[in-house]
Amino acid sequence: MATRAKVLPLLLGEADVSKQLDIIWSLSREREIITVPILGFAILVNDQVLIVDTGFRNAERCTTVQHLGPHRTQPEWSVAQQLARWGIAPHQVSMVVLTHLHYDHAGGLSAFPNAQIVVQRLEVQAAAAPVVSRALDVGGHALFYDRLDVADVVSTYWDRLVLLEGDEEIAPGVRCVLYANSHTPGTQVVYVDTADGRIALLGDLARNVHLNIEEELVPGIYYDLESTRRALRDVKRSADLYVPAHDYAVMHLLENR
Ligand SMILES: [Zn+2]
Repeated sequence: MATRAKVLPLLLGEADVSKQLDIIWSLSREREIITVPILGFAILVNDQVLIVDTGFRNAERCTTVQHLGPHRTQPEWSVAQQLARWGIAPHQVSMVVLTHLHYDHAGGLSAFPNAQIVVQRLEVQAAAAPVVSRALDVGGHALFYDRLDVADVVSTYWDRLVLLEGDEEIAPGVRCVLYANSHTPGTQVVYVDTADGRIALLGDLARNVHLNIEEELVPGIYYDLESTRRALRDVKRSADLYVPAHDYAVMHLLENR
């Protein structure tokens, strides 16, 4: 009999960011700098191990190339050590799903020698030639798409790349849903059916569950406002637990399920 999937959090780094990013047009009155985790997730279903998002390539590039605030890493936050906590080795991973290709989600692909890499075609196209002015001195002149990650996806790992064109069930009870032009042009959410209900792995479609999903306030970084608003509303009615990629609270919640 098929078993229900489990979702396990992987702590892959930390970053210091402004709470302004939580709300559209930076209208939040809370301007403090907070430390957020960079999370990935392991999905165990039957005898398969899937990963959702892989963290950043290295902490130094986050400041020198992306021109963002401090990012930190520690030896125990490597993919291998985080998976080892759950008794899993990286070579067992059969699929890596990327919610989108930003530097803090697509930077860790080299850890998975046997995995297919699942991403929306729209996102690869958008990341390859992002719509951005070179005058913008943040995001690596490429809207947070690290050129090395993009090069890896279109070259190094090309033969293992699975390009989705919309919604698809990729394993029993694990479904990728495209929310075009939301956080990025090709953002996808991974819905996972577990014994305790349906979990939505959101990437950065939402940063803060209360503000962005319950209160329906669009977060600060988005591609198209109306598409993002519709995406958040769809997520709200489609899952029992909402899991953004940068929230310590959901990490602890998942660890204790
Ligand atoms: Zn992110």
